[in-house]
Formats: sequence, C-alpha cells, structure tokens
Amino acid sequence: MENGGRKRWGFQGNEELDKAASITIRGVLNKVMSNLNPQDHRPVIPLGHGDPSAFSCFRTTPVAEDAIVDALRSRKFNSYAPAVGILPARRAIAEHLSHDLPYKLSPDDIFLTIGCSQAIELIIKVLARPGANILLPRPGYPFYESHAAANHLEFRHFDLLPEKGWEVDLEGVKALADENTVAMVIINPGNPCGNIFTHEHLKKVAETARMLGILVISDEVYAHLAFGGNPYVSMGAFGSITPVITLGSISKRWIVPGWRLGWLVTNDPNGILHKSGVVESIVSSLNISSDPATFIQGAVPQIIEKTTDDFYLKIISILRETAGTCFDGIEDIPCLTCPHKARRIHVCDDIEDDIDFCMKLSKEESVIVFPGFAVGMKNWLRITFAIEPPSLEDGLGRIKAFYQRHAKKQ
Ligand SMILES: *Cc1c(COP(=O)(O)O)cnc(C)c1O
Repeated sequence: MENGGRKRWGFQGNEELDKAASITIRGVLNKVMSNLNPQDHRPVIPLGHGDPSAFSCFRTTPVAEDAIVDALRSRKFNSYAPAVGILPARRAIAEHLSHDLPYKLSPDDIFLTIGCSQAIELIIKVLARPGANILLPRPGYPFYESHAAANHLEFRHFDLLPEKGWEVDLEGVKALADENTVAMVIINPGNPCGNIFTHEHLKKVAETARMLGILVISDEVYAHLAFGGNPYVSMGAFGSITPVITLGSISKRWIVPGWRLGWLVTNDPNGILHKSGVVESIVSSLNISSDPATFIQGAVPQIIEKTTDDFYLKIISILRETAGTCFDGIEDIPCLTCPHKARRIHVCDDIEDDIDFCMKLSKEESVIVFPGFAVGMKNWLRITFAIEPPSLEDGLGRIKAFYQRHAKKQ
C-alpha cells in the first residue's frame, strides 16, 4: 500500500476555483511577460500594469509616508481593530467622501477593507444568494467575474458604448435584468476605458436601477483622477433614487496600492440597505474575514486631512500629459485606433488577434501591453499611460517599429 496504508490522498485542488480565476489581470500579464526575450537588453516598458508607484514622478506624497510613521510610532495601533475598521479612520473617510455628496455620510456607512479588492469580494459574497444574478460592464474589471463565479453568483454583461463615450447601454441593462437580478456594477472613472460618466448619465443609471429594483455598486477606486472633459461625480449623489454602494481605496489616488487600505460605503439616505439585511450581512462577512493592518488604518485621518492640493494637481497634470503623449503616439501607429482613449487593433497583417499582438510585441520589443479579451473586448488593447514620460515615448516608438516591420511582411 502507498502513502502509509492509504490508497490515495483524500484531498485535491479545487478546480472550480481555478476556473473562476482563469482570467485575471495578473495571470494574463504573466503570460505576456513569459514571452519576453532575455536576449533583448533594452529595458522592458510596462504598458500593461496599472501600478505606477515604482516611477519617481508618481511617488506618493511625503505626507502619507509621515502619517504611517507617526501612526506606527504612536504605539496606539498595535492591537486588533474592530471588524468594520477603527472609528477615526471611518470618520475621516465619511467626511472626505461627503464633500462629493448632497448629504452627509456617517462613520457607520463606512466599512474598511483590505484595498478596494476586498470590498469587491465582500459585496459579491453578500449578494450571492442562490439563484441571484448580477449585471457587470463589458469592458470591465475581471475581478468581479472571478469573485461572482467563485461564489456561484450568475453574472450577465451589459455593454459600454464606445460611440457614446463608453456610457452604459441602459436598454441592454433593462433587457438583461429579471426578478433575480440584485445589482449592477459601474466603474467610474472607468477602467479600462478611462471615461467619466456625466451627472445626467449617472442619474439615468440610478433611475434605471430603481425601476428594476436593484442596487448600484459603483467602483470609484479612481475617484477624482479626472483629466479630460467631464468632472468626476460620485454615484453616491443618487443614493436617494436607488441604494448605492461605492467602493474605493487609497491605492490609486495616493499611488500606494501595496498599503492595502480600501472601503465599502453605503450611500443610502432612505435606509433600504438596513431594512433588506444587506448591512447586517456586510458586518457578518467582515466578522469572519481579516482586516487591513491597524497602523495603516491609524494613518488614514492624517493621510486624508494633510494631503495638499498640489500633490493631487501634480499627479493629474502628469497623467494629462502622458494621456496626450499616448493618444498622439497611437494616432501615428496605423494598426491602432483609439476611440475615446481606449485602444483597438485593426487587423495587423500577420497578427492574428490581441493576444498574438501582445505576445509578439513582448518578444520582439520588450513592451508589455494588455490584451483586451481579458477585460471583455477581443481585439482591443489596454495601454497604461501612468508611467514616466520618457519610457512611454520609448514604448510607443517601439510599438510603431513593430507595426512597420509587420506591415511590410504583407
Ligand atoms: C485597481 C482596481 C481595484 C483594486 O484596488 P485595490 O485598492 O488595489 O485593491 C478595483 N477596481 C478597479 C476598477 C481597479 O482598477
């Protein structure tokens, strides 16, 4: 007998989980990066990742670093935190987010999470009762699909319309919803498209959700990172039309994704989320999960209160510049077009599709871009321009050279 008398081991991996996580940003990026040519000694240009924290021009404000040091040194944050997060942090976030709203949030509306990612995981878990379904945007952020699948929550996709500046196809939403639909998700400002919904459009989203009797989950992890035409408006502003849950974190605006501090917020002046038991389930779920590190929570009030406008403005201005560079660079590469600043590939001669484009570009030019299929858009690319300007220009130059080489092979 093998294994000390047992015929076979009584455990094995969970294939369902593997299937749920089969398309992730990390997984797809790893695949594209595995095709890099070690013989190419040029620096790798990472236009596929959404993490600019490594670049000196995107360094966080010293205010945030000091806040962490002060919190740590105070020795007040060495213990476990309450499941919903410590009160001073929830109070600071409530005040901070209330600036964008026609009413005031209370600290009790704020639930601290391990980044915006855990907030997504949390709300999906809470809503995943048997038979329910949720409406997700296409293109979108694959984390939602993965967690819905892992929790047996059926998901259905509505489209964002490129010709309408990536607005939600509200007719599509109405056609998809049925009596088992619990919520729809929007991402505003958008990932991967970088668009920002107008006040009027968000109001229509709220009215549609109300008509369908569903909750709106608004992923606002890029809140205030607005550098185009439309100003950022929080979906929470429409919480009296339909209950809204907003998700956010310090990862993107403060450029510290490794600090893992986020939040889930109930924007619900009519108290519907309390009556329906959603708030109770959020607390139940937090009671059996882990929390963001207490000293990071302890730093939150100082991070929020002391960060000055010049930090935000500097970041916005670099993003505006690199968005422009990226847009102009793409105009100059005939196989790519860019409606409203999301990138689509035209059939590029000997290139089969978006993944083929990304794999070959990785191998030949050491430039990483993200294939659209993984965010729901076959034959599109997601190109990150949150990198330092000289590298961006280098990367765009290499994509152009790549195009010229492949176009010639016709
Ligand atoms: C980055 C990102 C997240 C995850 O944020 P973290 O705070 O790093 O967990 C969630 N949603 C979208 C749309 C994102 O781009």
